[in-house]
Amino acid sequence: MNIINKPSPNYYPGRKTYKPEAIVIHIMQGTLYGTDSWFQSTLSKVSAHYGIGKAGQVHQYVNEKDTAYHAGRVNTPTWGLIKQTDTGLYISPDYYTIGIEHEGDFNVDWTDEMYNASSNLIRAISLRWNIPLDRKHIIGHHEIYALKKCLGNTVDINKLIAMANDHAPLIDQSLTV
Ligand SMILES: [Zn+2]
Repeated sequence: MNIINKPSPNYYPGRKTYKPEAIVIHIMQGTLYGTDSWFQSTLSKVSAHYGIGKAGQVHQYVNEKDTAYHAGRVNTPTWGLIKQTDTGLYISPDYYTIGIEHEGDFNVDWTDEMYNASSNLIRAISLRWNIPLDRKHIIGHHEIYALKKCLGNTVDINKLIAMANDHAPLIDQSLTV
């Protein structure tokens, strides 16, 4: 997999005491190149670990061992694995998730190239961090923050997970994390 580095200044070094336990799927509501510049601007204060383009390009903004700012807010979550403190406060899911953005809009079908690149990347991440490839660990942003529409209306997340499971584990494990 050819990963192009587009470092974002918007991240927290490390993950406190946490490690990646799940992968959050986002939709850019825009282009890959627009997202590149948004994440590379300190004004946006947001980022994700990766962005996938319609042609299957993979851009990396933040290293997996660091905390990207992609899903830090929690609102009426439906995700079963969300973490809370003893006093019931939500721990920012940014600390224990990896975020992948996808080019395009909520109502536009993903290209085959996007499904391929995303499922390949998900497979590689799951091997690095021992993340099970199932619906509990591969989630849409809206499962953390109900006011968000990511996944959108067209993405077949079960297909994405099935494809990730199908990919032979031949992926380059030396990728930057
Ligand atoms: Zn999102």
